[in-house]
Amino acid sequence: MGLKVYINGELLEKENAKISVYDHGLLYGDGVFEGIRAYRGKVFRCEAHVNRLYDSAKAIGLEIPLSRQEMIDAIYETLNANDLEDAYIRVVITRGTGTLGLDPNKCHEPQIIIITDTIVLYPKDFYQNGLELVTVPTVRNHPAALSPRIKSLNYLNNILAKIEALQSGVVEAIMLNKDGYVAECTGDNLFIFSEGKLQTPPPHAGILEGITRGVVMDLAREIDIPVEERQLTRFDLYVADECFLTGTAAEIVPVVRIDSRDIGDGQPGKLTRQLRSMFQEETQNAG
Ligand code: PMP
Repeated sequence: MGLKVYINGELLEKENAKISVYDHGLLYGDGVFEGIRAYRGKVFRCEAHVNRLYDSAKAIGLEIPLSRQEMIDAIYETLNANDLEDAYIRVVITRGTGTLGLDPNKCHEPQIIIITDTIVLYPKDFYQNGLELVTVPTVRNHPAALSPRIKSLNYLNNILAKIEALQSGVVEAIMLNKDGYVAECTGDNLFIFSEGKLQTPPPHAGILEGITRGVVMDLAREIDIPVEERQLTRFDLYVADECFLTGTAAEIVPVVRIDSRDIGDGQPGKLTRQLRSMFQEETQNAG
């Protein structure tokens, strides 16, 4: 039996899960989404993800025709229909089928899509030996043009940065914001540990406020590590003792080299490893 995909209240076989080529999600990237994880049958930080989804939708003037609780129920329904305990969940809300023109008012029915699949983690090597990153020329979206706080279906900004990283022979990019400060990676937030403080760019640096980012900040405070949201320059990254990425799919990944410079001693940091093991415990125990 193949995987079932939820579309507008129906569970369809993967092969039959289709939407119109006139959907503005496809034609214009007009829609929002979430990437969520389930561990041991429990959706991790479900409410936080659903809240961010509804905030993203509100910011683009898209009304999701389900209550938040109905959305949570639909996520669990899809997970259970596929008999999945550990899974990656993708919730996509498109503006719906419209005309070839831009007018969103001509799209009448948002499409609600929920895909649950077995998780594809980054290779083990990244976690054990750390990742190398480069800063790329593509600047993170100007918040006044398209706020990075909206998790929209328009990811071209991130994809261009990803292409630049891949062309440089690494798998992730550091994107700077319009003022030249560090923003985030193409699909993950960035942290450094420097001068005894865990530091990460603030939301106004033009980032997606990652849910994993929030969990990691809480975990650090639990072990009395001061946490600071501050504007970071590339210099701050180069001279940091430790660096790591956070994201739903990635969890916590050590970063050991940036723009050909070793970070700290070029090995995954001690705090990074400690936070990673605390995070893993959190995913096994918390919902
Ligand atoms: N930044 C961007 C651009 C992202 O797409 C994501 C999610 N993949 C993140 C950060 C991390 O957010 P979260 O921890 O909520 O997955």
